[in-house]
Order: sequence, then structure tokens, then C-alpha cells
Amino acid sequence: MDSASTHAYDPHRTAPRALATEAVHAGRDDLARQGLHAAPIDLSTTYPSYDSRAEAARIDAFAADGAEPQGPPVYGRLGNPTVARFETALATLEGTEAAVAFASGMAALSAVLLARSAMGLRHVVAVRPLYGCSDHLLTAGLLGSEVTWTDPAGIADALRPDTGLVMVESPANPTLAEVDLRAVAHACGTVPLLADNTFATPVLQRPAEHGARLVLHSATKYLGGHGDVMAGVVACDEEFAGRLRQVRFATGGVLHPLAGYLLLRGLSTLPVRVRAASATAADLAVRLAADPRVARVHYPRIGGAMVAFEVHGDPHEVIAGVRLVTPAVSLGSVDTLIQHPASISHRIVDADDRRGAGVSDRLLRMSVGLEDVEDLWADLDQALGQPLPAPQVPVGLHEALS
Ligand SMILES: *Cc1c(COP(=O)(O)O)cnc(C)c1O
Repeated sequence: MDSASTHAYDPHRTAPRALATEAVHAGRDDLARQGLHAAPIDLSTTYPSYDSRAEAARIDAFAADGAEPQGPPVYGRLGNPTVARFETALATLEGTEAAVAFASGMAALSAVLLARSAMGLRHVVAVRPLYGCSDHLLTAGLLGSEVTWTDPAGIADALRPDTGLVMVESPANPTLAEVDLRAVAHACGTVPLLADNTFATPVLQRPAEHGARLVLHSATKYLGGHGDVMAGVVACDEEFAGRLRQVRFATGGVLHPLAGYLLLRGLSTLPVRVRAASATAADLAVRLAADPRVARVHYPRIGGAMVAFEVHGDPHEVIAGVRLVTPAVSLGSVDTLIQHPASISHRIVDADDRRGAGVSDRLLRMSVGLEDVEDLWADLDQALGQPLPAPQVPVGLHEALS
């Protein structure tokens, strides 16, 4: 990474500020002059105006290019000042011109797909694995899209005249497989590349710097960071953001202002949380790799707070055995979470497709939180149980009997 890339993008600022600084200041630069410290939460659904000519002009402008309306807000589905603060902050951290927030990560992905199909570009090229529900949305064609699955090397050949999107995750959910974003972006040519950056967060990787036009987050995860807010966001250029705002306005997947507030607050500790949890995760990955009860550990080169590992024994018993670690789907919270992708996060993906994507039935996915590493290891150690006597009972058999 070059030195410039450690600083967030802002075309108007001469002295760039570091990511850690932007995390606590972006989207809040006007507060001190207003005599405010915490960001105000604007819960209004509508905004009074005696000047309906000016409101009509703002609505016309929005219909033309989807630009954030100038002047007083009009209606909650068109835009909200608290949510806009979060969008500004996230765009700054990802180094993009804009960001558009949605009610969930899936609502954000849906808006991208709808924006492309509305232009007649309904074909998507995607690389597995993806988050289970993203895989499902594309495979089932729920929004009228058609998907071609390929590996990174096959992207260029899979492109068609009606390809509107190439989608990758890196590190991917749940195997933490990585793709070379720069090479993939190159292979896409003029087709927008969407990189799901939920796992890496802008602290570890800013895909726009590598050529991704769209950076997707399930903000439910690390950006919120405390397991108490559902949200999605797409960071991108202003032109694409305009189309996404128009889709959001027409389809209604808006983010609630309270969620916008919680996300803005979450961003301020994002660098600290991600770095601390990543150090613990790297430590646990080493301990797991050295453990005879563990067959394989997946930990990305880029680092991060996610660790996946395959056990020799029954993964369901590990889930049943944890006491400190929380046995729950989702990730990116302050507490450590563990789940069995084949049973939960990727259950909706056809079993053959899932295994073909490298998601073993013995894989466990762990989102490492902020607890002490020794306490976490003690819990994992007891949950992993006794080493299995050979021969091992296949997981498939266990499932067939249950
Ligand atoms: C959770 C997740 C999503 C979906 O986000 P929601 O906020 O649950 O809708 C998308 N991508 C990845 C990588 C995820 O982990």
C-alpha cells in the first residue's frame, strides 16, 4: 500500500487526514460550530415548507440525476440528515465520492441489481463463495437477474453485452478466500465491479483504490460493531450513487435515522475495534492451526478479525460446547461469535454449490471480538473436546441420522 492510500479521500481538503482521524471526525465537521458534540438525530418523516415551488424544483432535480437534494429535506424516503452524516463518513473512509445507506446489506445489494437491470443490464458475473443470501439472491434470480458463476480467471470470458455487474467478496464469507481486486477490476473492463468489503472493512482494505466501482457493506457487522443495528451501504462514485438514491426512493429500503446515528457512532471506534480484534484473531488462528483437533485453519493474508476452521470432530458439538463465545450467526460485534455455515449462514445455498465453493461441512466460522485472548482460547479448548478416536464419524452421516 502506498503512503497516500493510508489517507481518506476528500477532494476539497489540502492536508489529508489519516483514517483513524476521519473515523471520529468525518460527517461531523459542522458540529462544533453549531455548539453540538454528539450528532443530532432527526426523526422527521416529513419537512414543512411554505415554498412549494422550491420543493418542486428539488424533486425535479432529484428525478434528473438522484443528487442529494440541496436545501431543506422533503420527505424521509428521499433523504435524512442523520443518515447523510453516516454516508459522508463512510464514503470518506472508503475513499469514494459518495455512499448510499439502506435498511440492510441485502437491501443495498438489491438496489444495485435493480439499478443495473433498469438499464437493461441484467446479467451478473460472480465469484463464489459469497455470503449465503447474496448467493441465493443471484442464483434464484429473485430480482430478474441472471448469474454466471466463475473463478477470477474466468471473469473476462464470462462478460456479455448485457453484463451489468461483476461481484466478488474478499475475504469471502465464510472461507475467507481472497481475490486480487486489482486484477479482477482489470478483467471487468468497463463493467462495474462490486466488492463486498464487509469482512475487511476500510480499515484493512479500500477496494475503490484497486478499481472496484462499488463497495458494499453489510453495516450490520463491523461498521455498527455492537450487534444492535441492521444496515447496508454502498460506497461509490456520485453518478452511481444518484441511481441508487433513486432506486432507494422508489423501492423504500431506507435506513432508519436511529440506525444512522448508531452507525456513525460505530465508525468512530472502527479502526480501534478492528485492529484489536484482528490481533486476537491472528493469535487464535495460530493456536488453532497447531491443534490436533483442527484439520484446517483459514485466515486471510490481509488479516482481520474473522477466523474459519475445519474440525476433525463434529462441528455441531463445538457450537453446543461454547460458554463464553456466543453461538450465533452474524459477525463484527464486540463479543466473539461462532456459527456453522453449512447449517446457518450458507444453508440456503445448494449443498453441492456450497461444497464446490470450498465450504466444508466441517467448517466453523468465528468472528473474534474484544475479549481477552486467553479467555477465548480456554473456551475454544474446552468446546473442541477430546481428540476423536480414529476412524472419524463423517458429518454427513451424523446429519442423515438427526
Ligand atoms: C451479512 C452479510 C451480508 C448481508 O447483510 P445484511 O445486513 O444481513 O442484510 C452481505 N454480505 C456479507 C459479506 C455479509 O456478511
